Amino acid sequence: MKPLGPIPAGFEAARGVLVVGGRPVTDWVEQAGDTPLFLYSANLVRRRVADIRVAMPERLALHYAVKANPFPPLLSLMDGLVDGFDIASGGELAIVRAAGIDPAQVSFAGPGKRDRELDAAIRAGVTLNLESEAEARRAIGIAETLGVTPRLAIRVNPDFDLKGSGMKMGGGAKPFGIDAARVPELVREVVSSGAEWRGFHIFAGSQALDASAIAETQGQALDLAARLAEESGAALPHCNLGGGLGIPYFPGDTPVDLALVGERLAERFERLPDVLHETAFCIELGRYLVGESGVYIARVIDRKESHGEVFLVTDGGLHHQLAASGNFGTVVRRNYPSAIATRFDAPVEEEASIVGCLCTPLDKLADKGGFPRAEVGDLVAVFCAGAYGASASPAQFLGQGAALEMLV
Ligand SMILES: *Cc1c(COP(=O)(O)O)cnc(C)c1O
Repeated sequence: MKPLGPIPAGFEAARGVLVVGGRPVTDWVEQAGDTPLFLYSANLVRRRVADIRVAMPERLALHYAVKANPFPPLLSLMDGLVDGFDIASGGELAIVRAAGIDPAQVSFAGPGKRDRELDAAIRAGVTLNLESEAEARRAIGIAETLGVTPRLAIRVNPDFDLKGSGMKMGGGAKPFGIDAARVPELVREVVSSGAEWRGFHIFAGSQALDASAIAETQGQALDLAARLAEESGAALPHCNLGGGLGIPYFPGDTPVDLALVGERLAERFERLPDVLHETAFCIELGRYLVGESGVYIARVIDRKESHGEVFLVTDGGLHHQLAASGNFGTVVRRNYPSAIATRFDAPVEEEASIVGCLCTPLDKLADKGGFPRAEVGDLVAVFCAGAYGASASPAQFLGQGAALEMLV
């Protein structure tokens, strides 16, 4: 039997059935009318944000990285909980605007912004995190044509990375941001263009669980921001310290020690250099805010045996949950947390693999896990489905189409 990842806190059984948002998932499936279905628990998101507010210094604002989950009802929930939104495309700009989010709270990072995306963002008053000198000049030119003062920040490619992170976004040659050494000159160019200077965006990596590594990276980001602000000779109104807080997906993973991250940041804030005294700081988090709040529910369509192995064939699969199948940025396939949702408190009775309905061996949601015996009609749950699920999976593959989604 292969181990399964740890089921996040906050999920219980009522009469044997997994409960999400106060009701058994069978109720939600009935209400939605079909499976597969993503359920996002508003209460778990609220609880997570509250935990962050308690742990982090008050001076630190909290931003939501929309790409983790752009489901509109979730964005509306977030609007009342966080201080800002980070988007990475013109499409995400349209989504946050449709959700009624104030563009003044939005910043836009991402390499390869097209002119029409820059144009829409500048008109709306969104802060652009500039990813290159060429992009800076295009943005300034577009703003001039529009007769609008653009709000410009610079994404710095830091000379360090986030140790132990699942995805490194800094340190060495990267398509993201502008190499630190070239930043001061570009700051002067942006300031002298008459743009509203918004400051730095320093993002060094993602999906780290080691609190001291996260704290060390935040410290390095503060040092770098101070040095670049000194060298550029311009005050620093704002500094986005990046994110990187991960969630436990796999066997043996443990949650980030949030209190430690908060304490270490508070210590740093108490002895900030003069050049950062007036600076406003934020972190931007995606999966840490929403990942563990989400559950992907699929129905068992067939129960098969092949060469002595049990396969639970579901109506879901990698076209909705690519990451759980091990095909989204993981090197070695390991099991996400999963369970038989309709037998949630039953003991382990057999070894089974939960597979999807796609005609490819890649389509595996759980490999040789230990489960209670499931039959056709049972529901399976894959946890940690609140981030990089529905919007980060190839829903059109094999003509399957998107899953249903509900905020509950
Ligand atoms: C993807 C991304 C995030 C969110 O990452 P998570 O691991 O989901 O927290 C934040 N900022 C930037 C710039 C990103 O590209």
